[in-house]
Amino acid sequence: MLYLSHPACLEHDPREGLPGHPERPERLRAIEAALAAHEWLGWERRESPAASTEELELVHPGAHVERIRDLCSAGGGAIDADTFAGEASWEAALRSAGAACEMTRALLRGETEVGFAAGRPPGHHAEPERAMGFCLFDNVAVAAALAIAELGIERVFILDWDVHHGNGTAEIFRERADVLFASIHQGGIFPGTGAREETGSGRGEGLTINRPVPAGSDEGVWLPLLEDELLPAAAAFEPQLVLISAGFDAHRDDPLAECRLETASFARMAGLVRAAAANWGAPVGAVLEGGYDLDALADSVVATMAALGGEAS
Ligand SMILES: [Zn+2]
Repeated sequence: MLYLSHPACLEHDPREGLPGHPERPERLRAIEAALAAHEWLGWERRESPAASTEELELVHPGAHVERIRDLCSAGGGAIDADTFAGEASWEAALRSAGAACEMTRALLRGETEVGFAAGRPPGHHAEPERAMGFCLFDNVAVAAALAIAELGIERVFILDWDVHHGNGTAEIFRERADVLFASIHQGGIFPGTGAREETGSGRGEGLTINRPVPAGSDEGVWLPLLEDELLPAAAAFEPQLVLISAGFDAHRDDPLAECRLETASFARMAGLVRAAAANWGAPVGAVLEGGYDLDALADSVVATMAALGGEAS
């Protein structure tokens, strides 16, 4: 069990340009304080390397990478009403993507069967050529693309349980036959994509699965979707690697959305994924996305890691 992060991920602070921004360094501090209080659940901790430009360019055109680098080196600024990059955000973004990449390398080297990449900024809203929704680069997508391009993997299953649709990841892999992207998210909120009818296109037709759920949905809605629809579809895809876009903003205490998962719901989802992946012989890596109530976030990450590591929930 391997946990990856880097101190530079604490230096990215959107509040420098967007006061009151919820995606704040305290999120990662709360996670790590809670993990420390649980003696890190026995997980190995490792500092993430910086993702290379070549890795980022597996899913983002070079012009996008350059734009972010130039913005940061010029002192930074708001990219849109939600998304900010400051001077320190460049290194944070590289370490955040690098955490997902290094976790994936460790999983595929067989060093560990489960991992958690706790970087920030998050990633799943970043489109190929556009930072948005607090995200600069799509960390989970970079890691999936790396696994396929360089680590000998042919099929990756990305499960996105953040309460928001992972539009960036969906767009990046929409036409690809080697990534199955499945998302449960609250319908009708940011970013507005993720309709059930969006199923992928071209060679990727059928390999995008969106399950929008209404406000108020609790685990009675979420767990059957995962167990009865998404995991069977993933089983048929025969993935060799499972990556979770692990946001925790579907928690009932989260201020940004209106779903009603409990802390234990995340453990149940993680346990279902872990058990399924064990049947497929695939390792599982979680990549941190959203989650904005500090206590709910920290407790849910601990519960998720405990379940991934095989502890009963
Ligand atoms: Zn989210």
